[in-house]
Amino acid sequence: MHFDTKAVHAGVKPDPSTGAIMTPIFQTSTYVQKSPGDHKGFEYSRTQNPTKYALQESIAALENADHGLVFGSGLAAIDAVLKLFKPGDEVISGNDLYGGTYRLFTKVFEGLGIKFHFIDLDNISNIENFINDNTKLIWLETPTNPMMSIIDIKGAAAIAKAHDVLLAVDNTFATPYLQTPLDLGADIVMHSVTKYLGGHSDVVMGALAIKDSELAKKLAFIQNASGAVSGPFDCFLVLRGIKTLHLRMERHCANGKRVAEYLNNHPKINKVYWPGFENHPNHAVAKEQMKDFGGMVSFTLLEDDQEASFRIMESLKLFALAESLGGVESLANHPASMTHAGIPRDQRYKVGLLDSLIRLSVGVENAENLIADLEQAIG
Ligand code: PLP
Repeated sequence: MHFDTKAVHAGVKPDPSTGAIMTPIFQTSTYVQKSPGDHKGFEYSRTQNPTKYALQESIAALENADHGLVFGSGLAAIDAVLKLFKPGDEVISGNDLYGGTYRLFTKVFEGLGIKFHFIDLDNISNIENFINDNTKLIWLETPTNPMMSIIDIKGAAAIAKAHDVLLAVDNTFATPYLQTPLDLGADIVMHSVTKYLGGHSDVVMGALAIKDSELAKKLAFIQNASGAVSGPFDCFLVLRGIKTLHLRMERHCANGKRVAEYLNNHPKINKVYWPGFENHPNHAVAKEQMKDFGGMVSFTLLEDDQEASFRIMESLKLFALAESLGGVESLANHPASMTHAGIPRDQRYKVGLLDSLIRLSVGVENAENLIADLEQAIG
């Protein structure tokens, strides 16, 4: 089935009791049993909930997975993956990733005895330098947040398989509309559903998509045992959001291209980070593994001046100054002081995350209006 059709229909069936075309919000914590253990497959909503099940089926279908799991946030989904491991195990991770993921790895799981290697994955053969008998997981984002680096998923999967190591891909920036990592050999796909899948800046949620049934069983056990599940109303909102994912992504990509090209020609801008440029270091990989280049664009100023970037951000009228991304409305974020404040400055500078870097989540408004807003703010 084509992606657009899956986006509209997967997981959602007419309600058998009424014919309601949308899955009802089963806002219930528990389910009545006839006799102890004699029930309709539903006992307690941390474990089973029909609205959650519909969403999990929808996300699994979009990612070409067999199993989907949704969590109270993206970080809760990552937390569940890391709980597969024990002290002494090692994780190889990209060195440009969401600040909250870095914080979870270094401030929580490092303390529990898991060792992390944050490495440059522009060239995936670098993984071989860090892999050893204790390595259990390769974790990557692509495109990365906020530097828009592209990592070769197929190549990373081949290395992971050769060493019997799991590969997890945070697919938040691309969404399954642009790339499906499981088809390229990844074992786990993770989403901050808060972003494009929800799409309307009204939900915080995470998800995992998995093909392997044994691995899915372990993660579902952790989901239920740790309890970071998402509520039925939030699941309903995301089911609704997903129905237009393909339409929104088309516009995000078109607007992202217009904004990236505009910024690239602006005399006050130093560097624009967007994988659609032919001189992007991994443009060829992006073209190979993605359908288009997405709606995220980062840029730095001619002089690395944080005050100047603050002035631009304060002057924007249409782009809202806010954390998060992937909603229909355009947002501007200052990673160094906002989303990535938890990453030490020297670490940030190693990957080019300068104090003047601004990250834009280009929404689905009219591109002319967005460019006019940038024009008046940058001057
Ligand atoms: N991964 C990426 C790429 C993100 O951008 C974020 C949040 O910004 C997360 C994970 C964490 O997701 P959440 O905020 O839903 O916990």
